[in-house]
Amino acid sequence: MVATHLDTESIHEHVILRRGVRSGLPIVVAVHSTALGQAIGGCRLAHYPHWRDGLTDALRLSAAMSDKCALAGLPNGGGKTVIALPPGRTLDAATRRAVLHDAGDVIAGLDGTYATGPDVGTGPDDMVTIAERTPHAFCRPVQAGGSGDSSEHTAVGVLAALHALCAERFGSADLSTRSFAVLGLGRVGGHVLRILADAGATLVAADTDESRRTLADTAGAAWASPQDCLTADVDVLVPAALGGLLTSHTVPTLRCAAIAGPANNQLDTPATADLLHQHGILWAPDIIVSAGGIIHATAVELHRETFAQATARVHGIADTLTDILRTARAAGSTPAAAAHSRARHQIEHGRP
Ligand code: NAD
Repeated sequence: MVATHLDTESIHEHVILRRGVRSGLPIVVAVHSTALGQAIGGCRLAHYPHWRDGLTDALRLSAAMSDKCALAGLPNGGGKTVIALPPGRTLDAATRRAVLHDAGDVIAGLDGTYATGPDVGTGPDDMVTIAERTPHAFCRPVQAGGSGDSSEHTAVGVLAALHALCAERFGSADLSTRSFAVLGLGRVGGHVLRILADAGATLVAADTDESRRTLADTAGAAWASPQDCLTADVDVLVPAALGGLLTSHTVPTLRCAAIAGPANNQLDTPATADLLHQHGILWAPDIIVSAGGIIHATAVELHRETFAQATARVHGIADTLTDILRTARAAGSTPAAAAHSRARHQIEHGRP
């Protein structure tokens, strides 16, 4: 067992590093905080140069989950599971099952202080496998008793955020008069593009997967290369692919007025929030914008709320974002700073 910390305000409650007894693969389960309730956070199965990089990722992602849950008003804290695959290692079905059982055993040992769900590299079916070892796995497929793929709910949350962002930045929540560049047309980005098209917005879209172009054509979106989409002259950039796209190199090339999208960890470093601010680009923190899926899944599965109650909570992302953007404007700070400060305050005072 390894106890570690990133800095004084984000000392984790509990971090487990274990070599899976069945798979031999390194598994990290990081519980950042249970101050607001059971810690939650997905199970990431990804390649890392070294398992220590997987540990670092788990620490960072679980701390971000604490902020995400607090800002989403959830009675939950942040956690994360990382299964760190060595570079180039592929898993056959038996080994995948073995490592998911190994992860399930670690989670079972936490006695319900942490529950996991899908993340990069895992999906609802993998939660069924983990659930063979622990009940603390959510987002299993609907036919297996879970709430299933959460990407549509994430997209609904992104739309709520886009309404709030446009109201704050352009003085109107009307999307039909605005232009958007949607970068990444996967499970979430595809939904977002369709909803924006229905709202009558002007659209540019890109994906590294050329097969997604059909989706763009159907939505009436202009197809662009990922680079041209990133730097498109639009009102709002919607990052819906991978994180880390906003850097000291890319920010000066942007021509959008505002940014809000589901991609996790959009900033390469926290300082990039200041750079965006200096360039007059309003950035909606991804931990607020991307919370629709987790809000819906936890409301339905962990807190036994109705579908309607869960959906209302997802739409609440608009109010949360509006509040953070106004607080930041009044204080002359970045939305990132305002969001982090709000989350810390809520966690310290033990109320979501
Ligand atoms: P996905 O894998 O279904 O879609 C990602 C898409 O991005 C794919 O179509 C891929 O081809 C494309 N892509 C990859 N690299 C690209 C690049 N450089 N330029 C353009 N396109 C690129 O993933 P998703 O579930 O839609 O999630 C999208 C983002 O939102 C991820 O960052 C994810 O972590 C985050 N997120 C997703 C959810 C959810 O409910 N699925 C919830 C919260 C956050």
